Amino acid sequence: MIQLSRRSSQITQSEIRAMSLACRSVGGINLSQGVCDTETPMNVLDGAKEALYAGHNSYTRHDGITSLREAIAAKEFRDKGISIDPDSEIVVTGGATGALYSAVMALLDPGDEVVVFEPFYGYHVSTFQSAGLGIRYVRLSEPDWQFTDEQLLKAITPSTRAILINTPSNPSGKVFTREELLRIGKIAEKFNLILISDEIYEYFVYTGSHISPLSIPELRTRTVLVGGFSKTFSITGWRVGYTIAPKEITTAIGHLSDLVYVCAPAPLQAGVAQGLMELPAQHYNDLRDDHRIKRDMICESLRKAGLNPTVPDGAYYLLADISRIEAPTSRDRALKLLTMTGIAGVPGSAFFHDNSGDHLIRFCFAKDQAIIEECCRRFESIQL
Ligand code: PLP
Repeated sequence: MIQLSRRSSQITQSEIRAMSLACRSVGGINLSQGVCDTETPMNVLDGAKEALYAGHNSYTRHDGITSLREAIAAKEFRDKGISIDPDSEIVVTGGATGALYSAVMALLDPGDEVVVFEPFYGYHVSTFQSAGLGIRYVRLSEPDWQFTDEQLLKAITPSTRAILINTPSNPSGKVFTREELLRIGKIAEKFNLILISDEIYEYFVYTGSHISPLSIPELRTRTVLVGGFSKTFSITGWRVGYTIAPKEITTAIGHLSDLVYVCAPAPLQAGVAQGLMELPAQHYNDLRDDHRIKRDMICESLRKAGLNPTVPDGAYYLLADISRIEAPTSRDRALKLLTMTGIAGVPGSAFFHDNSGDHLIRFCFAKDQAIIEECCRRFESIQL
């Protein structure tokens, strides 16, 4: 019998994949996976196709093609007003997932601790666990996902090295305010902590505005931004993401990303670069407005069904209260709801380290309008 690593035994199949399988087995509507139904913009597709046929099919520079790094720097200047050196402060990675993985490998050692806000995105926690890191949780309180300095200070130990921020956040939709980032930043400064900021949903903000710790001057040197295009361009299968960090950190992240991924797919980098350079602001505004409409429709129907949602300020998920569906755990409740409606969501337990998510379910609303309408109809016909 071959023995697996201790690391392997910690990592289990995500609830999201498990619910997707359950959904497929009943031919249901899958609102569990965070896959956006919006079409990939033609500029992005054309850019990749042209690169593919022009023979850009070999390894690229390990930190990405120049046009993409320059396009990312230009977008950061346009959106956040910050100047980033595309040659020394950006690494193009295998998606935001690869960005986080490479950053963790470059910056943290086994036994180090990371502070994570809860509810959390499971991949964040699993990535930290697989790297042998300790995790300290700071519970965001429902329904507006607030936290106090005291909570944050309590989570910090002599081993703490980093705080993970996810704004807009999956699954809560929380959009961190400048004031909150400054509070986190002050504590990070005091204990010399790194801020890892996953901003993959930066263009999905419905209330308030997206603020990155990178754009706050006093936090610039301790921030590692994790970004990606899976959501913005609906290309989850392309695997193109990036990090932005100070030069020395970027060099280390680049080496670690090189080791695992060598580079992001060459022609697909070109497609993303073309999209970034050519798409007007209207593209991003339409994306946001379209998702706001869907968010409001689903929230309204869930309210009518007695499954009270917390209305997310950003990203494209919402958490709804399913405590009226009687069952022992959130997984049982989610499966019961799947049987009742043919709609799959992710059990709340997937987003908490203990059982405090047992009354919750997460739905992804980045779906075709017709699917959203059908879901609303089904939710509204529930008899609880
Ligand atoms: N970060 C967050 C918060 C996510 O929700 C997701 C996907 O659901 C990812 C990262 C994954 O991004 P990528 O496809 O670029 O690896």
